[in-house]
Amino acid sequence: MFDASQPARPGVLHIVATPIGNLRDLSQRALDVLKTADIIAAEDTRTTQGLLNTQQIQAGKLTPLHDHNEQAAAVRLIDALREGKSVAYVSDAGTPGISDPGARLVNAVRAAGFEITPIPGPSAVATALSVAGIEGAWLFYGFLPAKPAARRKTLQELATRPDALVFYEAPHRIEETVDDLLAVLGGERSIMFARELTKKFEQLHACPLAAAAAWLAADDNHRRGEFVLVIGPPPAQADDSDVEAHRILAILLEELPLKQAAHLAARITGARKNALYDLALTLKNIDA
Ligand code: SAM
Repeated sequence: MFDASQPARPGVLHIVATPIGNLRDLSQRALDVLKTADIIAAEDTRTTQGLLNTQQIQAGKLTPLHDHNEQAAAVRLIDALREGKSVAYVSDAGTPGISDPGARLVNAVRAAGFEITPIPGPSAVATALSVAGIEGAWLFYGFLPAKPAARRKTLQELATRPDALVFYEAPHRIEETVDDLLAVLGGERSIMFARELTKKFEQLHACPLAAAAAWLAADDNHRRGEFVLVIGPPPAQADDSDVEAHRILAILLEELPLKQAAHLAARITGARKNALYDLALTLKNIDA
């Protein structure tokens, strides 16, 4: 029978994404690699052993690689790659390197000249964005600083950007973070709470930031579990030239018929005549 499985390759580091809740999200390629890798480095070997048990995978050797030993563990894994072993790396959940260890390992392995290959799969940021309805650019920040002063300073820097913003947040900080989001970004921007994605109590809730604290307070469950927060872009600001065109049109409308006022305002300001005509209708309170 044709076997389409893709085993782990010797001398290659495989960065393997794992489910963020629903075990059915583990990909076929991830299964192939985890079944066959000589070494599986894991952020938490017990968590990964649990995942492997659910899939009846008799795994290769499990070894820890986390924030506190990443550099030293990377050196050992490079030795293994040099011996021609196949190596996989998994974090606790989702995609390694995304608010998880993995970046230092990847840099060290690349510097040592070995091949690295991604085995893509779930990530909370991509999962949340897929249902957020954001049309333009977005910036993924990950976790905001835990200390309030640093958090607000970071938010003030981010507030000047025109993009949607995506954050990870833990349940014990969700309320204070939402308070700061409102204080710094204002109540008009939208927020989508993506809670417990792919899990039994998955919940998506979108509202203006002004209403976010009330939603959190309305039900204890709203503050439980894991969160991705997607903040919509800042509301479009009228620029200075719009404001000037508006001012001139309003003066001309006091003296001239609507069409003539729109025409003259367009000539004076360089703004589009149709846009000024529509604005004039609004100012005169006439339906187009
Ligand atoms: N590497 C992971 C990824 O690719 O999404 C993220 C790891 S980070 C340490 C954990 C954070 O991701 C959580 O605190 C939460 O903000 C977010 N997260 C992870 N799983 C989630 C889920 N099922 N629903 C909502 N957010 C989740």
